[in-house]
Amino acid sequence: MEPHEQTQRCRELFAMLSDYLNLELPPEACREVESHLAGCPPCIEFTESLRRTVELCRSYRPTEMPGPISDRAREQLLDAWQKMLAARNRD
Ligand SMILES: [Zn+2]
Repeated sequence: MEPHEQTQRCRELFAMLSDYLNLELPPEACREVESHLAGCPPCIEFTESLRRTVELCRSYRPTEMPGPISDRAREQLLDAWQKMLAARNRD
C-alpha cells in the first residue's frame, strides 16, 4: 500500500475513532476501524491513548452516563495524532 494512501486512511480513522470508542459506530464502520488497526501500529497506539483519555474523562463524572469526549480532549488528541503522523511521514 502507498504510504500516502495509508495516511489518508489514518485521517479517516481519526474521524471515526471517538464514535468507535463510545460504541456508537455502526458495525460495518466498526469493522473498517478494526481492520485498519490490524495493519497500522501507530493507530493502535493512538487508539490506546484515546481510550485512556476517554476513561479519564468519564472518571470525573462517575454518576453520568458515558458521553462523547470533550472538545478539549478531542483537540489534545488531534494534536497528538497529527504529531504522530508527522513523525511517521519522516521515515
Ligand atoms: Zn493508521
